[in-house]
Amino acid sequence: MTDSYKNQGFATRAVRAGQHRTNENEHAEPMFLTSSYVFDNAQQAAARFSGDEVGNIYSRFTNPTVRTFEERLASLEGGEAAVATSSGMSAILSTFMGLLSAGDHIVSSRSIFGTTRVLFDKYLSKFGLETDYVSLTDLASWQQAIKPNTKALFLETPSNPLNEVADLAALSALAKAHDCLLIVDNCFCTPALQQPLSLGADIVVHSATKYIDGQGRCIGGAVVGDTQRVGDDIYGFLRTAGPTMSPFNAWTFLKGLETLDLRMKAHSVSALILAKWLEQHPKVKTVFYSGLEGHPQHELAKKQQSAFGGIVAFEVEGGREAAWKLINAVEMLSITANLGDTKTTITHPATTTHARVSPEAKVESGITEAMLRISVGLEAIEDIQVDLQRGLDLL
Ligand SMILES: *Cc1c(COP(=O)(O)O)cnc(C)c1O
Repeated sequence: MTDSYKNQGFATRAVRAGQHRTNENEHAEPMFLTSSYVFDNAQQAAARFSGDEVGNIYSRFTNPTVRTFEERLASLEGGEAAVATSSGMSAILSTFMGLLSAGDHIVSSRSIFGTTRVLFDKYLSKFGLETDYVSLTDLASWQQAIKPNTKALFLETPSNPLNEVADLAALSALAKAHDCLLIVDNCFCTPALQQPLSLGADIVVHSATKYIDGQGRCIGGAVVGDTQRVGDDIYGFLRTAGPTMSPFNAWTFLKGLETLDLRMKAHSVSALILAKWLEQHPKVKTVFYSGLEGHPQHELAKKQQSAFGGIVAFEVEGGREAAWKLINAVEMLSITANLGDTKTTITHPATTTHARVSPEAKVESGITEAMLRISVGLEAIEDIQVDLQRGLDLL
């Protein structure tokens, strides 16, 4: 489907791309809660099933609300095609099932979402896909890990929770030189702050559950890229295996996309204020935020992203006891591991999101017992600071 807003600004496309009005002339995007579609006659049914005529058959394959979300997200990421999935994890699963085969090798950043690591190590490995892990920011170790059967490089940038930033242009050059795909989980920045395809990535995956929804309501995901790989290979897996996005969730995510640009800017402004405030706080040891001048990839983040995002990690003086004391003192912040919400959340990565990571791997990834992660929401920043000050005063 052509994108009639192709030459317009990001914020415009976020509001309008992908909508095709029906004969009812509705203003907002309609929600098509239907599992199947009717045909005019037997001939048309046969033509649809044989592929001679394009059109809706069944919502595991296509649904107009889901398609609107796919077209809008593809436009925002600058991709030819997008497919929506039931979750971020099924977006990652569908990508690998659609594109790789038994005997293929994956090189992955070791700083990835914990469940993605379980997917690689426990499940994809059962079907003959092997994964090796490297440091996100160490280009030489990516190069060394590539083998003749390596088909994909996989990463998240910025990383969770340390906000390390990968050089996407350099990794894309490496991937191309070795004839493998660069697959980027763009969950933390979203296309509002970073468009990996424009920096040479081949595939972008999303957990729409986070910032794309932005208000903590629905689970969903998406894959964006070229017509062949995403529109055919990955879509083919999706329509067969069925981790399809529901039209209700697609509608919710469409509403999320409409405010994505504004929200990501606002999250980033507040996160930078918070990071600077924490950095000068006597009870705080280290702050991990790529917007701070002292961050090791500050210059790269400035070049690659239009802002630094809403996630701030920091270490307090003391260990787990001090970190938990701070969490238990908050009155407004939500104690939950979810992120990307309008509500600010606080979590202790070592015992929640990264609890299943081995002690050695935690050391390797720099996740300590004294570390806390905040997903900075859209409340008044002063109120977030007051809430954290309560706990910091006890340390
Ligand atoms: C949450 C998350 C996922 C998984 O997404 P779900 O929607 O929970 O399945 C994948 N990658 C990153 C970076 C995430 O934060």
